Amino acid sequence: MDLEERTIEDVGERCEVCGAKLTSAELQAALESGEPALCSIHADEVVPIADDEAGFGG
Ligand SMILES: [Zn+2]
Repeated sequence: MDLEERTIEDVGERCEVCGAKLTSAELQAALESGEPALCSIHADEVVPIADDEAGFGG
């Protein structure tokens, strides 16, 4: 079985939100989690969409 080797270039080396250059640790985290490349700031801000937001026509 071949392991698909993903390179850092595959993810991109900049935050997809602000374009900040990522550290190798941040890149590695993105690679391992399969999440988009985000800087530590934006990676921390990304949260699941809450369906509990203040009433939508409710
Ligand atoms: Zn960012």
